[in-house]
Order: sequence, then structure tokens, then C-alpha cells
Amino acid sequence: CGIVGYIGNEDAKEILLSGLEKLEYRGYDSAGIAVRTESDTEVFKEKGRIATLRKAVDENVHSTVGIGHTRWATHGVPSQLNAHPHQSATERYTLVHNGVIENYEQIKRDYLADVQLKSDTDTEVIVQFIEQLAGEGLTTEEAVSKALSLMKGSYAIALLDKDDPDTIFVGKNKSPLLVGVGENANVVASDAMAMLTVTDQFIEIMDEELVIVRRDRIEIKTLAGDVQERKPYTAELDV
Ligand code: GLU
Repeated sequence: CGIVGYIGNEDAKEILLSGLEKLEYRGYDSAGIAVRTESDTEVFKEKGRIATLRKAVDENVHSTVGIGHTRWATHGVPSQLNAHPHQSATERYTLVHNGVIENYEQIKRDYLADVQLKSDTDTEVIVQFIEQLAGEGLTTEEAVSKALSLMKGSYAIALLDKDDPDTIFVGKNKSPLLVGVGENANVVASDAMAMLTVTDQFIEIMDEELVIVRRDRIEIKTLAGDVQERKPYTAELDV
């Protein structure tokens, strides 16, 4: 399973799809991408191979921002419905996740009693919870921090917000995730290999950090909001 993300000036869908292909070695049962268009977030996801996903992606969709995912199902059978990305009730938020949220049933019971879930995944609870918190007046950054600090288990996540088209929100705990620093582009990847065509400069993310990734800027914070400074390292190409 794996995650990729891209924000830059190139065609995001091709970079995401070829990035996911480089993560195939990690194993998966479904794959999906979400790309930001002029006014919306478009989701394409399929059970089975990335080749199948490729055929399903609308070639005419133009986007320079997006996230991608290969799923290894833990909660809910492998299916198109349970494949990632998952969206919140109003489709404001779009999320990919690797890992397992151990207390997702408790979160659902305590905070999402009124929300009709669309899938059988633990993941959907995260994205619905973020929307719920944003609806209570929190900014997206605050909502993500709060949601993640109440989640138990492992996660690597990348999130798009329809109201903030130039940002990818990233978080992790006990699952691998890196942020890459390119020229006029920044990326997200479970393994640097997936994004070496864009950059070989990567920043390690620590557990319980939130990273705000924009075209020209990467901001790392703890879930408590303390800003972290960290220099990128050069990822070696395995030839
Ligand atoms: N627990 C999530 C699911 O079953 C994510 C699995 C993964 O890491 O791919 O959908």
C-alpha cells in the first residue's frame, strides 16, 4: 500500500499514476487518485490494478494538484466503494490513508452519530470527523490536528480541502510518509522512489506531525502547533 501527492505546475494525474506504479511492489488490492480542477475535486478509484485505474481516469481533466493511494484493505472488503480517496459528506474534504485507526468505532459513536457513512472503512471516519470539526468553526489545520490527536493507531494521510485549492495537508503516525521539495513543485510519498522524477530532496516527517504542503512552501508543525525546522536529505537512486 502507498500514498503519493503532487502540487506544482505539471499535469498531476500522470505524475500520481506513475508514482503509484512505483509503489506497486508494496502490494495492494485497489487504487485511486483525486485531482483538484478549476472548481472541484475529482475522484477516480477502482478495485484491482493501477492499469485499470489508468483507463478510468478522464484524460481531459486538467490539474496541477492531487493525491493518490494504493489500498491494502484492513477494514471493509476490497471494492470500488471502499477504495481511497474517501470524501466527507459535503465532499469538501478528500482523503487517502494508509494504516489502521484502532478507535474508529468509538469516534463514530462519540462524534459522528448523525453522519451516514458511505463505506466500511476506518478511513472514512477520519475525513467525516475533519468535516464535522470544521463545521464547528475550526480551520482545516485545526480540524486535522484535533482529529489526528484523538485518533489511536497508525496512519499516513494526505488531505485535500475544496476551499483551499493550493494545499495538501499531510500527517503521520507509525506509518511511513515523506515530503519532497522540488523546483516549483512539492510532493508527498510513502517511498522517495515514487517521486524521484520530480525531486530527490526529501524531508522526513516524525510521528504526530502535521505538514502543510504548498507549491512554494512546506510547513511542519507538531499536533500541538509548534513549528518544526528540518532540512531535506538527498534520496539515493537505486540503479
Ligand atoms: N485501513 C484502511 C482501509 O482498510 C487503509 C488500508 C491501507 O493501509 O491501505 O481502507
